[in-house]
Amino acid sequence: MTVVSLATVPRYDSTRASESDGQAVVVGAGMAGLLAARVLADGFDEVTVVDRDPLPDDPVARRGVPQSRHVHVMLTAAQSTLDDLLTGYGEELLAADGLLVDAARDVNFFIEGDYLADGPRRIPQYCATRRLYEWIARRLVADIDGVELRPSCLFTEYLADDAATVVDGVEIRNDAGDVEKLTADLVVDATGRTSRTPTWLETHDYAPPPVDEVFIDLAYSTTLVERPADDRRSFVVTPSSSCPRGAGMLPVEGGRWLVTLFGVHGEYPPADPAGFVEFAATLPVPDPHRLLDEHRWTAADVVHYRFPTNVRRRYEDLDRFPEGLVVVGDAIASFNPIYAQGMSVAALESLLLYDVLASGGRDDAGRRFFDRSEAVVDAAWNMAVGSDFQFPRTAGPRPRGTALTGRYLARLARRAHADGVLRDAFFRVMMMEEHPVTLFRPGVAWRVLGPAGGALTPS
Ligand SMILES: Cc1cc2nc3c(=O)[nH]c(=O)nc-3n(C[C@H](O)[C@H](O)[C@H](O)COP(=O)(O)OP(=O)(O)OC[C@H]3O[C@@H](n4cnc5c(N)ncnc54)[C@H](O)[C@@H]3O)c2cc1C
Repeated sequence: MTVVSLATVPRYDSTRASESDGQAVVVGAGMAGLLAARVLADGFDEVTVVDRDPLPDDPVARRGVPQSRHVHVMLTAAQSTLDDLLTGYGEELLAADGLLVDAARDVNFFIEGDYLADGPRRIPQYCATRRLYEWIARRLVADIDGVELRPSCLFTEYLADDAATVVDGVEIRNDAGDVEKLTADLVVDATGRTSRTPTWLETHDYAPPPVDEVFIDLAYSTTLVERPADDRRSFVVTPSSSCPRGAGMLPVEGGRWLVTLFGVHGEYPPADPAGFVEFAATLPVPDPHRLLDEHRWTAADVVHYRFPTNVRRRYEDLDRFPEGLVVVGDAIASFNPIYAQGMSVAALESLLLYDVLASGGRDDAGRRFFDRSEAVVDAAWNMAVGSDFQFPRTAGPRPRGTALTGRYLARLARRAHADGVLRDAFFRVMMMEEHPVTLFRPGVAWRVLGPAGGALTPS
């Protein structure tokens, strides 16, 4: 089965990376960069992670990751990978007041006109702010032998041979303002949406990756409110073509809910508190408004973020790509964040990067990695962009088959209002644990397409 989910990705096995020599440089200390650094530490003596931001020893929001102030839902693929790769990740997250909830019951998920029924099987889920997820990962990665974090270092250029066939390092402006050259046997670009690799390729006589852009014109506004210690509920309100507005409310550390309201195609949630509350009142369920009304706000302001387009750079289509370079995370593809896939795609990519290096060495690592990661990106992209095309104003290349799949999934969601088994199947795919084909297996398809109530369900 193609690798597109946690269930089908090769599992991490530390004994597979027998060789450990040379140097690797990772540019970008976001989630993708940290996870890449973690797997590279098994195969390289030295791994240097550079980031233009200071990386303080606190879970604070960073300039280079403006999205870190907004709700980040951690799907199972990211969570399990973090647990596997970074021993003690979960314990540290909980010790720092993050939560472990049961997504089968604690997540109130509104879709297709109602909340889904509770699921029958537990789905453990970490809940915290994005800053906390990243801070714990950063501390654990920094503790690995051979890994060095270089904060306040701006990446400016790749180093390469005259013909630019091999990337062999990076040039940075370091924290003292001096230009420094770091040599490397492998460079990983984890700089996110602003990645400069396409421009570098073009200026060095390579074709840049073809780009798919799907216009969604999304905006987020977020604040924090007080949460009673024993209230661990999340709320997710998905948008629809009749109400292109939604919400995500996540219990986080410090006895708070992070409350994000969002809208697509110009339905922007306001960034002033009064307008924010009014927007919440227009949602199809009362819970977001009630939460904002009944609980003390712990943030003085509402922060705003715009996300105009889903962007996918198709590196897998390139005939030529330099040796010594790999691109990961949002630098390859960034998806409409309401589907919460970014950290999970980065996590699955880190496992694939490990597998590519462990199974085939460093030669042609970039192209071999892109060949493998294409399927992971495809699955996430089709899910996100496929859903985005329910809005008539969404524009860009439409993946094939999404209209039919969309109708099936809408029906599945409606049945799941009363059928916890369907919620379970849906959640495990949405959380990138299971392969999407599992939603079309006879036991699930019958519950979706057969008589309501699941009568005569085949065993
Ligand atoms: C509003 C919003 C909400 C989201 N919600 C979710 C969610 O619920 N669940 C989820 O899984 N994902 C979510 N995502 C996606 C998620 O944030 C990312 O996909 C994921 O963190 C992987 O990002 P990354 O590490 O590739 O890039 P980034 O997080 O963008 O990190 C890039 C890093 O590179 C550094 N950098 C950039 N340029 C340079 C340079 N020239 N020199 C040195 N350093 C540089 C930056 O400082 C930064 O640290 C959301 C995204 C957005 C925008």
